[in-house]
Amino acid sequence: MARLDPHSHTDLSQPRQRHLSWKAEVDFAGRTVRATASLRFDRGGGPVDLDSRGLQLEQVTEPDGTPLRFELGEPDPILGQRLRITLPPGVNACVIRYRTGPEASALQWLEPEQTAGGKAPFLYSQCQAIHARSVVPLQDTPRLRITYDAELTLPAGLRGLMAAAAVDRVLQGERAVERYRMDEPIPPYLFAFAVGDLASRELGPRSRVWAEPSVVERAAHEFAGVDGMLTSAEALFGPYPWGRFDLLVLPPSFPYGGMENPRLTFLTPTLLTGDRSLVNVVAHELSHSWTGNMVSNASAEDFWLNEGFTVFAERRILEVLEGPDLVALHAAVGRQTLDEAVANFRDRPELTRLRTKLEGVDPDDAFSQVPYEKGYLFLRTLEEAVGGPAFDRFLKRYMDAFRFRSITTEELLELVRAELPGALEAVDAPRWIDGEGVPPGAPVARSSRLEQVEGLKAQLPPPEARDWSPWEWQVYLNHLPRPSPAELMTALDERFHLTEAPNPEVLVAWLTVAIRSGHAPAIQRAEAFLGEVGRMKYLKPLYAALIAGPGTRSLAEACARRYRKRYHVIAAAGVDALLRKGA
Ligand SMILES: [Zn+2]
Repeated sequence: MARLDPHSHTDLSQPRQRHLSWKAEVDFAGRTVRATASLRFDRGGGPVDLDSRGLQLEQVTEPDGTPLRFELGEPDPILGQRLRITLPPGVNACVIRYRTGPEASALQWLEPEQTAGGKAPFLYSQCQAIHARSVVPLQDTPRLRITYDAELTLPAGLRGLMAAAAVDRVLQGERAVERYRMDEPIPPYLFAFAVGDLASRELGPRSRVWAEPSVVERAAHEFAGVDGMLTSAEALFGPYPWGRFDLLVLPPSFPYGGMENPRLTFLTPTLLTGDRSLVNVVAHELSHSWTGNMVSNASAEDFWLNEGFTVFAERRILEVLEGPDLVALHAAVGRQTLDEAVANFRDRPELTRLRTKLEGVDPDDAFSQVPYEKGYLFLRTLEEAVGGPAFDRFLKRYMDAFRFRSITTEELLELVRAELPGALEAVDAPRWIDGEGVPPGAPVARSSRLEQVEGLKAQLPPPEARDWSPWEWQVYLNHLPRPSPAELMTALDERFHLTEAPNPEVLVAWLTVAIRSGHAPAIQRAEAFLGEVGRMKYLKPLYAALIAGPGTRSLAEACARRYRKRYHVIAAAGVDALLRKGA
């Protein structure tokens, strides 16, 4: 058995998936997707082990309808169930008829009242890290990329979208049938779709934004600069490889800031601040088009390849668009979140390595800012060692060498050895890759704006701080001691109205320190805010602050009970883990 991905039943000695034809009907009343998955492999004959989770299998056949032998293994809490299908000699395809289970971990079914419009239901998928198997039975490892075509049947009044090229949409009475195709091979975690009451606005020749009709104008305003981002990204990495770069703004329960689904980035509505101050998330998801989607991690153990390179690219794009001063603030906030993530893993320091070992570990539990920010710092260190121009040439070389492939950390290191001889030794790469925590001497962000904020330490900022960007506020607030004096909390709130901050990044940075300091208005605001959003970046620090704060633990438990139906399964599990850990 040649299992190389600890999060998949895939056996690389067996036939490997090449193409998926997916026909699916969305049933909102039954909260299920009834589907047929036709899988084609690189060869026929013998057993093929697929991943599945909670799928209700109806039938497995050859393409001509001849029944095939299949066997479903015992459920594993992390991996789900192994679906073993035996292909006769010369048969390199199978057709699986099934429906998704009521608890499909990739799907969130929203009632109309959980949407902005309040009239139509909504469904969206989130397949990273290992949730594709709860929607489609396949070899759910990024190692085996797959092309697909799809036919989605849904209520005629709604609109479907897939992270693929739209082919057509035909009305058939009360139903609409939409067809899509993805001709570039993707890792299965990039399989994605959404169904809801959706409208769109054009942003540029290659981009449009989709959102619920009551949200779409605000979204179009917020993301108007996306074409400039595309141009900057292409200067860094070469031509955009996916055709279109469309955006989809989801309802507030979406658990992430963004998900880089190819051709259709999924985004949280918490980015819609009106002042375009959080569009760095779009730069991040756009960068994934190259680093992550075109060159993908071979498994979750190499997740830093996706995220470290992408944070690096995000900040390069931002530097072009907004200047180095702002990037220094971003990097400083990044370093603060990294130090916090390292501290949170003090009982599991092995998860602070860039290259991790995740056998028996759920990738959602291992998720943290470490692969993002430590990965970024490692690449910055390499860049400083070899010089900017040489590193930029290396980045282009990296994209060419691994185009549409999924690679391990070792494969990256081999390329660095060949292209930048001596660089790994110069930066003590093993200390970064396989060592715990952040190596001493990591690059430190510097700028005059940053120094001004850092110079304040725990003093009350001057009135001019009203004009600070969200990033200055985060640097300042994250620096404050926990707990901070009650008088400082009261003075900050009086002078800057932080409990009413419209920007969620500022609000959450404020609430986390204010809760820990027992500031009553902040506790009330957190209680309401936890019911308004489902983004884990906000849920986790707020729940952690309530759990650790003076007398607020029971409120954390009450909020988790009250709001859990509003959260995505992945986010609810994250909140539960915090409550368990804090017990
Ligand atoms: Zn990312």
